[in-house]
Formats: sequence, structure tokens, C-alpha cells
Amino acid sequence: MRQQVIDNAASLYKDPIPVPFLFPRYPEKIHYPLIEGTSYRYDGIAEGLFTLDKNWRCIYASTSFLRLLDKKSHDLVGSQVWEIFPELEATALGSIYKCSMHDGMPRILVDYIPAFSGWFRVSITPTAEGIDTIIQHHTKSTSERHPSYTSEEKYRTLFNSIDESFCLVEVLFDTYNRPYDYRFLETNEAFKQQTDIENAVGRTMREIAPLHENHWFEIYGHVALTGESIRFENHAEQLHRWYEVYAFRMGAAEQRQVAILFKDITERKRMEHLKDDFISTASHELNTPLTGIKAYTQLLTRELQKAGDKRNTALAKKLHHHVERMVNLVNNLLDTSNITKGEFPLTKERFDINDLVGERINEFRLLNQYHQIILNTKPVRPVFADRQRIGQALGNIITNAIKYSPPTGKITVSVSDVDEKFLKISIEDHGVGIPAPSLTNVFDRFFRAGSADMPTYPGMGLGLYITAQIIKHHGGTITADNKPDKGAVFSFTLPYD
Ligand code: ADP
Repeated sequence: MRQQVIDNAASLYKDPIPVPFLFPRYPEKIHYPLIEGTSYRYDGIAEGLFTLDKNWRCIYASTSFLRLLDKKSHDLVGSQVWEIFPELEATALGSIYKCSMHDGMPRILVDYIPAFSGWFRVSITPTAEGIDTIIQHHTKSTSERHPSYTSEEKYRTLFNSIDESFCLVEVLFDTYNRPYDYRFLETNEAFKQQTDIENAVGRTMREIAPLHENHWFEIYGHVALTGESIRFENHAEQLHRWYEVYAFRMGAAEQRQVAILFKDITERKRMEHLKDDFISTASHELNTPLTGIKAYTQLLTRELQKAGDKRNTALAKKLHHHVERMVNLVNNLLDTSNITKGEFPLTKERFDINDLVGERINEFRLLNQYHQIILNTKPVRPVFADRQRIGQALGNIITNAIKYSPPTGKITVSVSDVDEKFLKISIEDHGVGIPAPSLTNVFDRFFRAGSADMPTYPGMGLGLYITAQIIKHHGGTITADNKPDKGAVFSFTLPYD
């Protein structure tokens, strides 16, 4: 049993990020046959022994223990462990003391113990009186230390000096293997500043914030069970903050420990909220007068046509064209604001996608005589989707294909079956293409790709964001790629039902 512990400890030091080694020991307790009342006869052995009562008071410290820590018996006996070693409380050892006193489970820790100023193998055994602790120098001397010990210390210093908060937690599961809480085993300096939680080590999150949302426990439980690391942003209502989090499993699966690196992003979220509010208010306020302007422009054009005033009719048509562009911009802002608020209803109907593609292409052919738009369709089954929104998505991609390719460029729109559940539409152009590093971002809100050697094109970076949201809301997928020769290709799938 003891051998197994040491083997595990050795494997830990091969870990690229050495961490404290901590796990519950086997359920049976260690027996100390020589204990007779308060008279201990352990003083001759190299391992140090000290005993705490249920109130954390030291009731015995062996000579070897006193020697290991360079203390006198009267320094320890009679005092509480937290008074003797004040720095202990915020460490992994402090936390496992509390866990073991609470659940009666023996535990072993191999770690650098700042309170004891060295590397120790600490074995904790709850007894009827309190807790027995056996400590042993993990290496014989500092010079013989495994090289990674010093790197552990370096990592510890690093964890304490980084701006990101770090904590190591043990996820607690109920009898149905559902995560219901987690206990803090270790935290770094930034943790306290970014959570306002004092003395977290040893306590559980539910003790600290009883209303902490369930999704936090579910996410960390999932990481502990599956070993999948995860990156996410989430709100913690009781801590009044937003966090950007990266969580990954630490150690063996049965330890159920998750390391969490996180950053307080409340200020960024507040700014995003302000921006969203501004966009929402501005687009709504602009929309009302713009609707009036559009209606009067159409009326004016008709009146001038009726009066046979050709010159002014042409001017009114130009005016109408610019008003249409403005309406488009404001509609994009309105859509974006509704999407962020989660208000994006679809009005679905069954229709032939090839009819819609044909209609949209004809509109573009009428407005744009330079680009050659080629239609390459295969018969497909009618889809059940929002016709107007799918038309908008198609329009956005074709507008970009025209905008980002030379006037003589060919644009090919293809429609085909993927399988019996999905169809696929692709739009290929022979234009400037998308700079490779931007391929993953083109569907982000307000994202605009560009490089020093690319001409600048007007736009707000919303068209593809809205397009991707339309496709996503339909249960389809969308991709952007560059063609091997030249130009971009956008493809999206749509479920038939
Ligand atoms: P924008 O209003 O800037 O065109 P979009 O959301 O429609 O906004 O597109 C986002 C970015 O993706 C564009 O700024 C452009 O850099 C890139 N992009 C989109 N379509 C194409 C295309 N067909 N060819 C090259 N780049 C494109």
C-alpha cells in the first residue's frame, strides 16, 4: 500500500505542471499498537508523529517531529495547530486536515509544506481522540531533491504572481454520481481579489455561496468525470461577477479534482451590455424616421413619373437606392440586437429552395451587370424553413461574393443533397479570398477581415454574423473556406424538416 503511494508520487513529478499530490487513503485506519494512554514510544523513529485532539489542539509531538521542525515540545503541546502554523490554513494540508476531521477518512499528502519549510510526505489518520499525523522528509536533503521539486516551487510562485485566478477543487458527487458541490483545495493570490472569498481552502462552494448556480457544479462535475477540459464564460450571481474560465482535470480520475484558471470579465461584460443597449436604442430610433423617408421617396418617385419629369425621376430613384442601403444597415443592427437578446423568431413554411435561390439570383443579375452569376442546382426536396430569413442569408453571402471579387469575376451558386436529412448550398467566388487567420472569425459579430495589402471595403461586419445565426437557428451549419486557386467558398446546410 505504502509502495503504491510512493509510485504515484513519483509519476506526479513527471507531470509537466507538478501539483500537490493529494488523495484519500484506503478506508482502513492505521493502528499504532504502542499507544498507551498519553505515553508514546515513537521517539526513536525517523518519522515525526504528532497528535491533535478534536479541537485541533496538539496533545503530543514526538522528539523526531520536534527535531524535523526545529521546535520545542512546549511550542506545540497545548496550542491549536492553526495558532502554531498560521499559514497552514490556506494550504492543501490545511484543507485535507479539515476534510479528514469532517469525514473521518485518512489521507496522504506529498507536497512542499510552507508551514514546515520543506517537502514532506504527510500521513493523516483520524482517530477517536482527533487526528494523528506522521510526517517524513520526502527527500533526505535539499541537494538530493528531485529536480522537479524546484520546478514545483517555481510553478507555485508563478501561480501566485499571475493575474489569472487559480484554484484546485475536489468535486463532490452524490450517490447517483451527480455533482452537488466542490471543495477548495488550493487557491492563488489573485483568487481572493477576483472572488472576494476569504479563506476558501477547506470550505465548499455551497458553504460560501449557497445560491451559486447549478451549471457551475455540472460543468466541473463533467470535467472531473470525463477528463475533458473546457473553456467558457459564465455569470456568478452571488459573487456579482462574470468569469472567463478554463477548467481541466488534475491527477487521477478517482481523485475528482479539477484545476480552474479564471479571470473576472465583469467590466468587459458591462461594456458589451452598454454597447448592446446603445445599438438597440439607436437602431430602433433610426428605424422610425427611415421608414417614413422610404415611403415618401417612393411616393415622390411615382409623382415625378406621373408628371413626366424624367430628370427628377432619375434623381429620386438614386435617392431611393441610397435610402434602401440605409434601411439595410439599420435592419442589420436591429437583427443583431434582437439576436443578442435571444429574440429571433422564425416563421417556417414548406417551399422549394431552388425557386428561392433562382429568385434571389435574378434580383442580383438585374442590379449587377458585371458579375456573372452561375446557377448549378440539383433537384432537392422542399425544405421547412423561414423563407424570408433564408433569402436574407443567401443575399448576404452573394452580396459579399460580389463585393470581394473583381467585376469580371464568376460567382457560382450550387444546391445539392447531403443526405436524406440535409441539403447544402455553396457560393463560390474568384475574389480576394479570406486571410487564413480570419477564417475562424468571419462569423463573429462586428468582425472584419483585412490586411495591409488588401483594399478597404465598406461594411460593418454584421452580414455573416446574422447569416450564421439564421442557419444555426434552423439547425444547419455554415463554413467559410478559401479555394485552392483564388476566392472564397461559403457553404451552409439546412435540415429538410
Ligand atoms: P462586412 O460588412 O464587413 O462585409 P460580413 O460579416 O459580411 O461583414 O463579412 C465579414 C468579413 O468577412 C468581411 O469584412 C470580409 O473581410 C470577409 N468576407 C466575407 N465574405 C467574403 C468573401 N466572399 N471574400 C473575401 N472575404 C470575405
